[in-house]
Amino acid sequence: MNLPAFEYRRPASVDEAVAILRDDPDARPLAGGQTLIPTLKQRLARPTQLVDLRGLAELRGIAVDADGVVVGAMTRHAETAGHPGLRAAIPALSHLASGIAHPQVRHMGTMGGSIANNDPAADYPAAIVGLGAEVVTTIRSIAADDFFTGLFSTALEPGEIVLRIRFPKPLRAGYCKIPSQASGYVTTGCFIAEAADGIRVAVNGAAACVFRQPDFEAALGRDFSVHALEGLVQAPDGLNNDMHASAAYRAHLVGVAARRALEQALHFARMENPQ
Ligand SMILES: Cc1cc2nc3c(=O)[nH]c(=O)nc-3n(C[C@H](O)[C@H](O)[C@H](O)COP(=O)(O)OP(=O)(O)OC[C@H]3O[C@@H](n4cnc5c(N)ncnc54)[C@H](O)[C@@H]3O)c2cc1C
Repeated sequence: MNLPAFEYRRPASVDEAVAILRDDPDARPLAGGQTLIPTLKQRLARPTQLVDLRGLAELRGIAVDADGVVVGAMTRHAETAGHPGLRAAIPALSHLASGIAHPQVRHMGTMGGSIANNDPAADYPAAIVGLGAEVVTTIRSIAADDFFTGLFSTALEPGEIVLRIRFPKPLRAGYCKIPSQASGYVTTGCFIAEAADGIRVAVNGAAACVFRQPDFEAALGRDFSVHALEGLVQAPDGLNNDMHASAAYRAHLVGVAARRALEQALHFARMENPQ
């Protein structure tokens, strides 16, 4: 199917990209095009201009230090999955990236595009919320808990560009995705992280938007073991109920994904500190 007409822009700097987006409310940033181009083909969006972010070096790359990891918005999933320093610092994040779609998508799709799109079945929102990351944009820094606001919606203002994402290094973390057998997207997933200031449990795929599971967080705060999750259940109220899975099944999968994510967190910790 042909694309609708638009003007293609390739800014030389972030400032130039911001200026184009500010002057034209119908212009849109283009990352890897993995969602945006199919959306155009389906005539679900008709931007007047596409502002290609690929030439902007400051939006790319991964930096690792003792406190955590910073990932540029234009960093592709394959780079996130394969970066040795990132894998050593936060193996659960590397594992998550390696499980997104297939190699073609992983070599085009970007972290910034994924979180700006906020597909309820996407993987990264679970890591952003689970690790308590910070999203740095052209105008501010947004805490993970404030970034994802609903179905395909975020706190980003029109024309605001995600520059990078800062992930604090957790003590232990794990992720489990239970994928749709048809699409590979998340049916239900869970990211669990233990940090010095507490436990975070983020559930993705199950509802319109990623959410934290306070009962699981409280139980794991008392005892970071699989026994702590015994008897805990996720209520099906408000969960997605569609052709992929009923709300009741998704509620069940939250418990399954949480147990597996926790087992992975404990596994990665044993690998780092073998007894
Ligand atoms: C076949 C297939 C299978 C997939 N499977 C999975 C999966 O299993 N798990 C998963 O998580 N994802 C999956 N995806 C999604 C994919 O991984 C991409 O992350 C997603 O499509 C976004 O693509 P992109 O980075 O190319 O962004 P684009 O498509 O270029 O942009 C997406 C949206 O974000 C906006 N945008 C892009 N960059 C920025 C920025 N820096 N700041 C502000 N706004 C921005 C764009 O304007 C657009 O609205 C799949 C995609 C495909 C095509």
